[in-house]
Amino acid sequence: MDFHLTEEQKRLKKTVRDLAESEFRDKAHIWDQNDEFPRENVMKLAEMGLLGITIPKEYGGGGGTIFDVVLTIEELARVCRATSTILVTQVGDAEAIKEHGSDNLKEKYLPGMAKGEILSCITISEPQAGSDVTAMSTTAELDGDSYVLNGIKHFITNGDVADLYMVFVRYGKESSGAHGIGSILVDGGTPGLIVGKNDIMMGIRGAGHPEIIFENCRVPKENVLVQGDPSNNEGFKKILASFNSERCFNSANCLGIAQGAFDEALKYSQERETFGKKVSDYQGIQWMLADMAIKLEASRWLLYRAAVNGSEGHPELLEVSIAKTFANDMSLEVCNAAMQIHGGYGYCVEFPLERAWRDARAYSFGAGTPQIQRNMIAQQLLRGKLDVIRNR
Ligand SMILES: Cc1cc2nc3c(=O)[nH]c(=O)nc-3n(C[C@H](O)[C@H](O)[C@H](O)COP(=O)(O)OP(=O)(O)OC[C@H]3O[C@@H](n4cnc5c(N)ncnc54)[C@H](O)[C@@H]3O)c2cc1C
Repeated sequence: MDFHLTEEQKRLKKTVRDLAESEFRDKAHIWDQNDEFPRENVMKLAEMGLLGITIPKEYGGGGGTIFDVVLTIEELARVCRATSTILVTQVGDAEAIKEHGSDNLKEKYLPGMAKGEILSCITISEPQAGSDVTAMSTTAELDGDSYVLNGIKHFITNGDVADLYMVFVRYGKESSGAHGIGSILVDGGTPGLIVGKNDIMMGIRGAGHPEIIFENCRVPKENVLVQGDPSNNEGFKKILASFNSERCFNSANCLGIAQGAFDEALKYSQERETFGKKVSDYQGIQWMLADMAIKLEASRWLLYRAAVNGSEGHPELLEVSIAKTFANDMSLEVCNAAMQIHGGYGYCVEFPLERAWRDARAYSFGAGTPQIQRNMIAQQLLRGKLDVIRNR
């Protein structure tokens, strides 16, 4: 067992922290206040080789691991979630293309994704199918050399700026439940792909979350990523495995936000004076800081374990569900405490705490809510999986 980052991982973390502090910090609140997509940051991420961090070198990427992505998102999220979120959708789709795509699809999309010429989004949720993905009704019907897509997706992060949509569809209208579900890649601008109303969210602003409507949207059949078969759930099982990486990225966002909030609170507590003393001199405040640090460290190591193991394949469901549930709860608790330590100033929009608090709240919805994660943890425990992760 080795709890140390390698020299290369330390370098990556420092590079991303310097980038976030020097280039992204000053404008982070502007993207949030204007609800504006931080396009200049995307180009910076591409320039630094971070956008295609896990894309294989032969396709112009960095050839990095899931753990490298976690370290990168953690540092970006410490400062700007509109920016860290870009990486979640971009890497999430690149991983799926890497794993399931044909050579043609890899050739067609991965180099552009690494360069920032193709921005992608993950298109799964529907108004009637969120936690229960198997209730989805968007269909893909074969017609000649194309699939014709019909249905409505919603809450699609970066769906308003994306050039590429990785869409979960039901192959064959007659299928139900998990049977027939698979995925397909749809280029932005394809006739019949309509960007609908943008649902204005409380946090992670700067990333839009619109409806995506498919109306007889014709997609070449070469764009099938995972073929669903109405007679079984094999396609669905394949795409579910990719969710575990996304759960690591969601947790990394939580860890980064909480670390940023803690850093602000620690600093502020040593500056602010009441009754002739720094507030950090009061034991009540010191214990809050101590509890925040305990939660942060516990969350960090749960996540790092899942991500390091996941870098050798897919992260283990039990490990990553534990890490995500803890990170979701932890980030809310730490942001809340950081706001309290700031007193009334913490609630002011001029301070970064209220944005952190709003952003942290969002991560309890994506990639499986804490309730769904707890269901999955319990299922895994009942199948004896705890021994598997402890003894490997
Ligand atoms: C900011 C934001 C960004 C998003 N980005 C994307 C995106 O990019 N792409 C995308 O496809 N989707 C995205 N989503 C959608 C997100 O994945 C869904 O909101 C999520 O899956 C939950 O679904 P739901 O909102 O329909 O809630 P529901 O599934 O209706 O759940 C309602 C409540 O019931 C609980 N619940 C449901 N089933 C159970 C159960 N079996 N046991 C116990 N409790 C249960 C849930 O935890 C929740 O508290 C985003 C959402 C938000 C808020």
